[in-house]
Amino acid sequence: METELPHQAEHGGNSQTNSSDRTYTVEQILYDLFDVDAATLIERRHQGTTVDGLETGHVDMIVTGMVTSFSASQRVIQHAAQLGANVIIAHEGLFYSHQDQRDQLLDDPVYKQKLQLIEQTNMHIIRLHDAIHREERDEVMEGLLRRLEWCNQVVEETSTHTIVELPQAIQLDHLAAEIKQQLSATYIRLSGQVEQQCQRIGVLVGYRGSAALGLPLLSREDVDVLIVGEGPEWELPEYVRDAVEQGRAKALIMIGHAESELPGMQWLAERLASRYNSINVSYVANEPVFRLV
Ligand SMILES: [Zn+2]
Repeated sequence: METELPHQAEHGGNSQTNSSDRTYTVEQILYDLFDVDAATLIERRHQGTTVDGLETGHVDMIVTGMVTSFSASQRVIQHAAQLGANVIIAHEGLFYSHQDQRDQLLDDPVYKQKLQLIEQTNMHIIRLHDAIHREERDEVMEGLLRRLEWCNQVVEETSTHTIVELPQAIQLDHLAAEIKQQLSATYIRLSGQVEQQCQRIGVLVGYRGSAALGLPLLSREDVDVLIVGEGPEWELPEYVRDAVEQGRAKALIMIGHAESELPGMQWLAERLASRYNSINVSYVANEPVFRLV
């Protein structure tokens, strides 16, 4: 199971031969990732039923190397080209919107220069969002739990959250320091009292740090702290502020959207590398999106 790609189990794979000289087209990679042909995928993107699929390039191109990343930033594209790769599998949208809305960007200099770089480097950018967050097994969540070494501590799992119970309670600031170290993050943010004991932890990756998803968890008596990617600052953090003011032991750790999801993309690169012997696959990290001053 551990080397399985999204949807590989369902269709059995069309690239079972794993010889070191085999070549693959972009279309084959798409099929392995999404379990549908390229035309169906394009149609689904047009219909808006998925954001997944090929964002730039042609399906019949031979893959020279692949890179996975949280986002296909200018720097990641340059780095991928230097590595000899012509495919990037990125989790988030290429042009700063979830549904790839480009209307307001058409005359934008940043957009135009990035497009130019994509053309110059002949980069094929695949968005892998919905398929890796799939309901039966969210591999972004799993990637984070693996990184934090919490896979054996899961006591509750739904399509949006996981609850972990640590063998022993740990002080909030120690917990935060541990997470920061495991993620090699430059910073993470926390809200709550640093001396609070934490044992039951709710985990919500990506943009799931909203009150709608987080509050029902945090208000539960058996949940001490939430770890989220990102969410509105006036929702859960304000709830924690009031809860602490009332003397309650509730806390929130906001690790950042990318930080919560990049372990999943890094794990994907490992699985792709073992699946495609003849293709160089690597994970390329972005710089943190914010700098603390
Ligand atoms: Zn995500």
